[in-house]
Amino acid sequence: MRRLLSKAKFKTLSLLGLFSLVVTFIAITTSYLYAFWQISNEVRSDSEQLLNYVEHKLSVAGNSLEKLNKVEFTGCDNQGQERLEEFLFDHLGAGLFLIRHKDSAPWTYCSVVGNILISQRDRNPNSLIFLDESRTKVISVMGYDWQGLERRDLFVALEADDRINVVRIALEDSYSFFEDQCTDCRHVEVRLSNDDLIFELGEVKTGVLTELRVYSHEFPLYVDAVVGRKRVRAQMLNSLMLTTPISMVFALLCLYIFNLVKALHNSLGFQLKKAVKRRELIAYYQPIIDAKTGYVVGAEALVRWVKPDGSVEPPGRFIQVLEESDLINEVTLQLLKNIPIDLAEVLEQSPLFRCSINLVPQHLELPSFTEQLIELEKQGFPCEQLAIEITERLPLKNLRQARMNVEKMKALGVCIELDDAGTGYGGASYLQELNIDVMKIDKLFVDTLIVSPDKTQVLDANIQMAKSLGMQIIAEGVETSAQSEALVDKGVRFQQGYLFAKPLSTVEFIAFWHESHQAYIQQYDDTDMPDLYALKEE
Ligand code: C2E
Ligand code: CA
Ligand code: CA
Repeated sequence: MRRLLSKAKFKTLSLLGLFSLVVTFIAITTSYLYAFWQISNEVRSDSEQLLNYVEHKLSVAGNSLEKLNKVEFTGCDNQGQERLEEFLFDHLGAGLFLIRHKDSAPWTYCSVVGNILISQRDRNPNSLIFLDESRTKVISVMGYDWQGLERRDLFVALEADDRINVVRIALEDSYSFFEDQCTDCRHVEVRLSNDDLIFELGEVKTGVLTELRVYSHEFPLYVDAVVGRKRVRAQMLNSLMLTTPISMVFALLCLYIFNLVKALHNSLGFQLKKAVKRRELIAYYQPIIDAKTGYVVGAEALVRWVKPDGSVEPPGRFIQVLEESDLINEVTLQLLKNIPIDLAEVLEQSPLFRCSINLVPQHLELPSFTEQLIELEKQGFPCEQLAIEITERLPLKNLRQARMNVEKMKALGVCIELDDAGTGYGGASYLQELNIDVMKIDKLFVDTLIVSPDKTQVLDANIQMAKSLGMQIIAEGVETSAQSEALVDKGVRFQQGYLFAKPLSTVEFIAFWHESHQAYIQQYDDTDMPDLYALKEE
């Protein structure tokens, strides 16, 4: 017991462990994906913002250059510097202005702070990008030397008749604008379309998850940015607080859905549907015996579920599910079609033999079963050797429709039997309306013969009624020879029950029939076989 308990505990603990693992996995994965999505969005929006900023600066610089052209300038003397200072003061936002008179030395520009040398190394004509069709406005990245310090930045130049005006787009000024708390977790580069690097920001070069590029629509520029692993990880840890409870709910939901699907899969209806498709529902045949001679006058086809493991299940557990669904139609049709195949030998050698099949009300109230039977008869189905059992256990809602179908079946030679007579709904109305040929007396009444022999009034009345209506009688559930003999005494010679045989597989039934057939032939004249459906009791 203790071992069992600890086993159960172990199972619960393992399940709990598995569940936590699943939750953790989902939480981490969703947090990671969510963080990645968030950071990517953020990086893209940062890059767009940076690009907008650069574009704005370039537009302002372009305008300023046009104005600078109007400044009177002859040389980089004090007067010239004053003019520039004045101009710079008016256009303070636009950075550093330079002017070179075309007569001056080629790399020397005049600025408010004195002469500035543009480095020749960077004056590569290939790195110049013209911004206008007249090729007077140029955007480029250039190095310059100011007060002995080497720098590199983005310049826009405008070439006029007598001079060249230049403005520096001081992007490094904007470092502080873009800098955030995390310079070591990002990397941003602004480049010209010829890949000349204008400036870069941040330090991440390794641990890059993905790169994003945003192009400017106005200028030949683009911004490259990376989504760094470190940043995503930090964000993920933040969002774990949110995703863990969500994941738990999600995992519970999955568990619930899994259980639901499992339950559905295990449900009898689902299993039966599969079984019908695989033709696992087949007929077993229980012999109906003439108790006077021991001859097998007929059989009742009773459904059995032969499972893939070979076990055979009687219909008690599943017949109601079949009857309440459309599956019963498919099953009945399968059983029906198999009768002439299973019992071919018997039907051929014993023309008076009949096999009965159990129907449900919908088989009678709807036209499809009758139509199928008519169709089968056209293909050679031996309807004269078929009986249908209509049970009193289930009510017939449309007796008129049932009667019409019954008549059509009778016209084919089918025998009509009232099953479980005396136990249910129909009673005398079924007997009259449905033109019943045979009454099957239920085991309930047969049992009274032994259990309370003085209370057989219902049985007697049923027998009497059947006889007076010219019907044949079959007694069901005959288990003892005493019952059998008592029934014969009451004029009920056709009997079905464990006394003679249980429902048998096809092979068993054929063997049983052979034995009884041989015994009969040896004892009686083989031309005078008892016919359950024609014989009238003396
Ligand atoms: P039922 O039509 O009244 O069939 C007779 C039942 O009594 C069968 O049970 C049979 O095995 C059992 N039986 C026969 N002789 C004896 C006996 O001496 N003692 C005892 N205790 N039982 C005996 P089974 O095969 O389990 O079928 C149960 C019920 O399931 C049937 O009752 C019938 O209502 C239904 N059923 C069986 N096959 C079909 C089918 O193919 N279609 C439909 N719609 N119902 C079926
Ligand atoms: Ca029956
Ligand atoms: Ca019955």
